[in-house]
Amino acid sequence: MLKLRSVNGYYDKSHILKDVSLEVGSDEIVALLGRNGAGKTTTCRGIMGVLPRIEGQITMNGTDITGQSPDKIYQNGIAWIPERRRIFANLSVEENLEMGLTDQSQRKSRFQEVFDLFPRLEERLDQQGGTMSGGEQQMLAIGRALVADPDLLLVDEPFEGLMPSLVDDVADAVAKLSEKDIAMILADQKTDEALELADRAYIIENGQIVHEDDADSIGSDQELQEKYLGVQ
Ligand code: ATP
Repeated sequence: MLKLRSVNGYYDKSHILKDVSLEVGSDEIVALLGRNGAGKTTTCRGIMGVLPRIEGQITMNGTDITGQSPDKIYQNGIAWIPERRRIFANLSVEENLEMGLTDQSQRKSRFQEVFDLFPRLEERLDQQGGTMSGGEQQMLAIGRALVADPDLLLVDEPFEGLMPSLVDDVADAVAKLSEKDIAMILADQKTDEALELADRAYIIENGQIVHEDDADSIGSDQELQEKYLGVQ
């Protein structure tokens, strides 16, 4: 579904992504693992068309989306849930969900799908986004991406800053999404949670993919995790 071929990404003169090649199948959850500053967010930004400069090729369902505008990429079925749950704090839950809609005629069915997944959002439609708990805000961020009916979700650090009990809630939500045939890239440092959810994983270091394998193999390779992810 998504293919990156030798992608190089830059912020001004800083060459951050170096020959990144990766693939996501139509029903796959792929973890993109790496330490702080390894290039996970930059990879998401490159896919979404918000990096100042990019070289190489990115295709989605066979369409070349390299260098396209973010809204075109969104229309091509890729939605991004940025790190730190960037919801609109001053807007209500309902207004936040509205922001994700690409087709008003689908409003009712798209909203219903989100409410089936996260009933609490329906109960709190009028509440201001910023007053929701961290876990609820993550659900709202996922819901806002979901109303666009994406084929692929880029989920950046979904567990960051959450209490352990909320980590489980968010992991459940991600698992439910994959049952709906939505493919995902989970960019994360929290290896255990991401590997439990993922089918395959890539490890990125200094902007380069240094390892690729199925999630179970990486999960059981302590030496590899210590080397690249600092997991003891
Ligand atoms: P984290 O887990 O800390 O979010 P990450 O793996 O997502 O890390 P990135 O945010 O992609 O890492 O950062 C990769 C590199 O790009 C880092 O060296 C970072 O300093 C650099 N970088 C990120 N944003 C910019 C920017 N706007 N301008 C210049 N350099 C940047």
